[in-house]
Amino acid sequence: MLSVRSIFRPLRHSRHPTSFLHSAASPSSSPSSAAAIEAERAIREGPRQDWTRPEITDVYQSPLLDLLFHGAEVHRHAHNFREVQQCTLLSIKTGGCSEDCSYCPQSSRYQTGLKAQKLMNKDAVLEAAKRAKEAGSTRFCMGAAWRDTVGRKTNFNQILDYVKEIRGMGMEVCCTLGMLEKEQAAELKKAGLTAYNHNLDTSREYYSNVITTRSYDERLKTLEHVQKAGIHVCSGGIIGLGEAEEDRVGLLHTLATLPKHPESVPVNALVAVKGTPLEDQKLQPVEIWEMVRMIATARIVMPKAMVRLSAGRVRFSMAEQTLCFMAGANSIFTGEKLLTTPNNDYDADQQMFKLLGLTPKPPSFGEETEDCQQEPAAVSGSG
Ligand code: SF4
Repeated sequence: MLSVRSIFRPLRHSRHPTSFLHSAASPSSSPSSAAAIEAERAIREGPRQDWTRPEITDVYQSPLLDLLFHGAEVHRHAHNFREVQQCTLLSIKTGGCSEDCSYCPQSSRYQTGLKAQKLMNKDAVLEAAKRAKEAGSTRFCMGAAWRDTVGRKTNFNQILDYVKEIRGMGMEVCCTLGMLEKEQAAELKKAGLTAYNHNLDTSREYYSNVITTRSYDERLKTLEHVQKAGIHVCSGGIIGLGEAEEDRVGLLHTLATLPKHPESVPVNALVAVKGTPLEDQKLQPVEIWEMVRMIATARIVMPKAMVRLSAGRVRFSMAEQTLCFMAGANSIFTGEKLLTTPNNDYDADQQMFKLLGLTPKPPSFGEETEDCQQEPAAVSGSG
């Protein structure tokens, strides 16, 4: 029998930005793609953490229609395929960040015209959460443009209060506040935080081309603190930063080999903002085929994760978003803005749900400490 490795061409270790066109093996020599083999294995054996990079590369490089089909297959076994979670992300402290993330308009190092603001007060935050809930969101995410929360005791205590209040409204609560220490993770857990977002952005190899003010290992340390505190990890990345195909695979490999898969994996397409170093990024905008490839691969290698179609969705048509849901995405961000960049129209999203027969996913407060990762994936009524 042909092995998966022999069926596919070897990965070109180029650093050239990837193309969405991948050569497919000929039908006569290709009884099964890596996507088919790994999807079947994921359904049979459940999630695993021992992925090798070549294995993920082979899945990623499977013929696109096959990858899409098998992403959908795994999705239907691990989740209720009709349910899509609506999350709202609010910037509660905008701009003036000391970090140099080259895609971010909130860095104080770039002239993007964004005015730095102080932490939003409680009434305004709770009002926004209430509106989000009424509009169908079941997860409310609060983002603050900070390197970390060290030395921000007053603000941090305020945020703990916001978390308690919003959790009390029956919503999942997520924060993204920069790097986190062990003690802070424990305090957030005690306040009722559901998840903490801290993206790895890209591969370890490409990372220093994007950010220099904090290391990849510091990011991983934060994820470790979050995971150990019993908070769900939300971590993903951005495509379109100028990375090569192997960097996308590298990002997925790091996430899929964490001690526990992230509960949530946001897949963002760069929204190039004027004034940031990436404003003139080549090969913009990211092709829908690249998003589909990334989402389907994430779905197959981390079957139980919520795969979130995040920044960049605003540029995709309904038909293009449909391909993303088919490939395995089961969450979107709703609301006027995604932190500081424009987001999809509320009515258009409602129309899309109706047309596609999607239903909003109810909130889930399952305990992070329950280890479901070794169970075989099964058809279930919820994600
Ligand atoms: S991505 Fe976050 S840490 Fe980086 S510059 Fe923007 S706000 Fe700061």
